[in-house]
Amino acid sequence: MEDIKYLVIGDPVKHSLSPVMQNAAFDFFDEGKPYSFRELSLEELPAFAEYAKANLSGFNITAPYKQEIMKYCSVIHEEAEAANSVNTVKVIAGKLYGYTTDGYGLLEALRTILQYEPAGGTVLILGAGGAASSVALTLVQDGLKKLIVANRSLARAEELVAPHGGQAIELSDLAAMDIALEEADVVIQCTSLGLRPDDESPLSEAQLRKVKMLFDTVYLPTKLQADAKKLGIKVVNGSTMLLYQGARAFEIWTGHAAPIIKMQLALEKAIKE
Ligand code: NDP
Repeated sequence: MEDIKYLVIGDPVKHSLSPVMQNAAFDFFDEGKPYSFRELSLEELPAFAEYAKANLSGFNITAPYKQEIMKYCSVIHEEAEAANSVNTVKVIAGKLYGYTTDGYGLLEALRTILQYEPAGGTVLILGAGGAASSVALTLVQDGLKKLIVANRSLARAEELVAPHGGQAIELSDLAAMDIALEEADVVIQCTSLGLRPDDESPLSEAQLRKVKMLFDTVYLPTKLQADAKKLGIKVVNGSTMLLYQGARAFEIWTGHAAPIIKMQLALEKAIKE
């Protein structure tokens, strides 16, 4: 463990492709393979923060700790503060500096893969956690006309849209969902459903039929992606978002321009395996 200077933490996190992708970038700069993963329970987070301050140069945070980790950061970058989400921490002189790179990753992926420009558009986000709030902020900053957030717990969706003036709905409110699905140019799936193989899909087949374009932030194959493809819907998974959010994190930690192609090749190889 001594030569590990970077980690991705979360629960679950064993599936994460971040180690493969980040180690390809570090390797490009002859810095070995200093990036690994650690699965943590909520109770283990305070001790981990102390460990990180003394031993790490940086770490990524995935579900479900992107908000919880903020308690341990001495400084939070303004974008992360506004998104209420930290997915990247840089350790400087024993202090944790929190950033978010999820929104940047999503926007780059929307542009490069779906050729979608959010300015003037309507987007429906499923979920209201760390990724969703970071994505929402980026879309709004980029000129989105209407933001709709559907979440299992309505209160969290309302909290997310409050600063942006969007619409919050409950995922189980079928009538409101139908209207939102009709309205949206793109549906961005930001719940953690799909990370586990036995997870149900957040949208039924009838709901999916109303979707024009689907962006599932989960980068593994999911039931939702398979169902959407069967219906001929333009669907993108989260691998390009993962690539760009990881590239930005690498730049924050090291100050080097991220070797995107090297990272992409490592990611594509790992996804195929
Ligand atoms: P959080 O833990 O912060 O949020 C989880 C969200 O999922 C909440 O909205 C939660 O709803 C919802 N949720 C959890 N379980 C269920 C369920 N059984 N039914 C309905 N909704 C549920 O996670 P993150 O925001 O960090 O991550 C969310 C997703 O985004 C993950 O799948 C992750 O893989 C993906 N992601 C992908 C990235 C990429 O680069 N491709 C980058 C970042 C994230 P509630 O509020 O009601 O609990």
